[in-house]
Amino acid sequence: RVDLGERSYDIEIGSGNSASLAGFIEARRPTEHVVVVTDSNVAGLHADALSDRLTDQGLEVLLLEIDAGEPSKCADMAFELWSRMLEEGVDRKSVVLAIGGGVVGDLAGFVAATFMRGLPFFQAPTTLLAQVDSSVGGKVGINLPGGKNMVGAFWQPAGVLVDVDLLATLPEREYRAGMAEVVKYGVILDAEFFAYLEANVEGINARLPEVLRHVVKRCCRLKADVVEADETETSGRRAVLNYGHTFGHALEAATGYTRLLHGEAVAIGMTCAARLSEAIGAAPCGFTQRQSALLETIGLPTTTPVDLDPEELLELMWRDKKVEGGQLRLVLARTFGDVGLFADTPSEAILTAIGPSTRAA
Ligand code: NAD
Ligand code: ZN
Repeated sequence: RVDLGERSYDIEIGSGNSASLAGFIEARRPTEHVVVVTDSNVAGLHADALSDRLTDQGLEVLLLEIDAGEPSKCADMAFELWSRMLEEGVDRKSVVLAIGGGVVGDLAGFVAATFMRGLPFFQAPTTLLAQVDSSVGGKVGINLPGGKNMVGAFWQPAGVLVDVDLLATLPEREYRAGMAEVVKYGVILDAEFFAYLEANVEGINARLPEVLRHVVKRCCRLKADVVEADETETSGRRAVLNYGHTFGHALEAATGYTRLLHGEAVAIGMTCAARLSEAIGAAPCGFTQRQSALLETIGLPTTTPVDLDPEELLELMWRDKKVEGGQLRLVLARTFGDVGLFADTPSEAILTAIGPSTRAA
């Protein structure tokens, strides 16, 4: 349960439970009309079959498919979806259901938040990143040519149904990238969970359903706690989720958003943050080593690509939207499960932490 007063909702986590999607929706928002938004990869793998099942169970489905990939998370695509929905007679008695990764979820959620001033929104996330991160918390939106996630809203879902079996078809690289966010939750909020991940790397890499159910459940709970404390990112509590992300965003920007997946950039970014935490004496010696060891056994990168210039990355970090009041405030670690915001970190130390070799610290 994500407890947000009137906007509270449930996240149901299971294996094979997407078979009961119709019941999940109808129990929360009685309706006859469901607008399913999916992408061109997920359609054939899962969304067509799930939509057919909704139809079999008596719901009228309008299936809208976007091209897979980040470029679809744009104003033109939102316009196309709004227009199709109007043409097809979608009204305020309908609900929107996203079946896909974070791109589908963010776009469909934004369209749901804005069409006729807001329709109920459900999510059936199909990437690990979406199951543990983007489907929880209510941030929806689209990109502008000048910046990612620059137009959006806080629009909490009416319910999220997570079926870990849907992850079976996820490409290896996407799966690992999602695991970077999983490791992040352990580092920032839960030392015991971090140790669980270390002890279950084999199950993680084999995508064992029981391990995945536990992992997704724990991450959703941890994120829900943060969101409950700071729903609209005003108190500062939500900032802890940015651990590794200021570095990561700079790495993504420096590589043109094509070379590294978000989670890969975050894995390198977390390594930079860990090294900096150690260098300024916030975290104990050996902290980075332990974090990197887990990331590496999952198959994630932990070194800044050698062709990237640390000075340029630092410059990009200053341009990240989280810089406030002229200060570069970074989320750094004191130990596993304990992070905080640090300002005034010397540039020299940041440059060294970025520096290409992980082992150097
Ligand atoms: P994505 O939605 O592009 O999915 C990654 C790829 O996997 C796509 O090619 C997709 O078609 C494919 N795919 C999805 N599910 C699959 C499955 N089960 N089997 C096979 N292939 C599958 O990317 P993502 O990593 O899920 O999400 C990234 C987006 O999420 C970014 O736009 C980011 O800004 C956003 N995001 C939002 C939040 C939030 O709080 N709203 C948080 C983090 C990230
Ligand atoms: Zn992230």
